[in-house]
Amino acid sequence: MADIHFYTGEALPLELHKVRIVQHLNLVPVERRAEAIAEAGYNTFLLRNRDIFLDMLTDSGVNAMSDRQLAAMMIADDSYAGSETFTRLTDALERVFGTKYFLPAHQGRAAENIIAMTFVKPGTIIPMNYHFTTTKAHITRLGGTVEEVVIDEGVKVTSDFPFKGNFDLEKLEKLLKEKGDRIPFVRIEAGTNLIGGQPLSLENIEKTADLVHRYGKLVVMDASLLQDNLYFIKVREEKAKNLSIPEITRRISEKMDIIYFSARKLGFARGGGISIHDKSLYLKMRELVPMFEGFLTYGGMSVREMEAMAVGLDETMDMDVISQGPLFIEYMTKELIKLGIPVVTPAGGLGCHLDASRFIPHVSQEEYPAGALGAAVYIAGSVRGMERGTISEQREPDGSEHLASVELLRLALPRRVFTASQVKYAVDRIKWLYDNRNLIGGLRFVEEPSSLRFFFGRLEPVSDWPEKLVRKFREDFGESL
Ligand SMILES: *Cc1c(COP(=O)(O)O)cnc(C)c1O
Repeated sequence: MADIHFYTGEALPLELHKVRIVQHLNLVPVERRAEAIAEAGYNTFLLRNRDIFLDMLTDSGVNAMSDRQLAAMMIADDSYAGSETFTRLTDALERVFGTKYFLPAHQGRAAENIIAMTFVKPGTIIPMNYHFTTTKAHITRLGGTVEEVVIDEGVKVTSDFPFKGNFDLEKLEKLLKEKGDRIPFVRIEAGTNLIGGQPLSLENIEKTADLVHRYGKLVVMDASLLQDNLYFIKVREEKAKNLSIPEITRRISEKMDIIYFSARKLGFARGGGISIHDKSLYLKMRELVPMFEGFLTYGGMSVREMEAMAVGLDETMDMDVISQGPLFIEYMTKELIKLGIPVVTPAGGLGCHLDASRFIPHVSQEEYPAGALGAAVYIAGSVRGMERGTISEQREPDGSEHLASVELLRLALPRRVFTASQVKYAVDRIKWLYDNRNLIGGLRFVEEPSSLRFFFGRLEPVSDWPEKLVRKFREDFGESL
């Protein structure tokens, strides 16, 4: 990775690419923002893009593509079977992971469906460092359960531990010993999404895989966020200092039986799939692809996206490319910390996470602090984040609220999309909001679907706090947007 320092000592990440295609952004006045979030039922998922300035909802399918990826899309081969595009993608995966076999799927969750349908039945247990929403849904749908065996440090909001995604090997071994007959595989999630994009160390990945193999079980990696994890291994782990990114990737992939991913993140495109070393494992899952996804050479993906993915995978082996996301997130996190704003530490991949329980401690969990903070951040700066707290949980069978263990607002940084001044703007508006945090109140549901309420549910403020926030904004910013 290019080592560049500013002469003045300013710790500012530097874009190692230039912008060649741009999309116009709207920044609507604060009054319109208050109106838009009310129309959206105070749910950032229901906002329309025309009302959003910086869209930090997710890093999925919204990462910037390179000129080479776009060029590759033009030579995609549409043939239904025997497509050259498929061969180029399989070759790229073999270069990166050393895997001989590839099953394409339309996105990450479709790969999870295929793996779950192959290995999960009622009573099955799948241990993993931490669950992801879609992973857990596929496993439980088939009667299985998920056991989380992340280290205790992993679920602490603030920490300086560099690898919060690590497995607790003792707990994992106990589980393998006691319930091994119900465990077909152990899932390792690189760049652990729901705890803030937190990585595992190379050492922990290797030890986990060895342990699982000693018990005769398969090791499956969810590599959707592997690119960020590779960066963190390279810069945070002594053992990996002298290894290149391709070498680290191979060290990991050699220990895995199955590697699946969402190419909406890994490979900077849209799609997904399953890479496999062993032919018999490949054959075990193969027939599910034409049944649920599409023929074996495209699996429901556009061939253009597959070409972009092949190039994106090779580009993922370049530290200048994969460092950009984590460096910008680290910058944003550190700037917020300097201003005294509570965030998840250390900075991870994927995004910066505000800790709503400390940002607005006066809002009780029953009134959804992370959701309220999401609405407030939108009003303050037209910045859209994603609630990762109680709204994202499901009610208990008796109808009572299941309070989340953490109340976070995720501000994702799609890779290579936002510039440093845009990140500074977001930090500035969050600081303003923090100084006026006493104005922020809670939310309550007005329409609450029984499942996936965080996507579709509509809420309202418990008081007129959004209006108060707008009035204060006008006092402080005058006519400014
Ligand atoms: C996004 C994601 C998935 C699901 O992938 P989709 O392409 O959105 O279906 C699975 N696992 C992890 C870790 C993810 O981040």
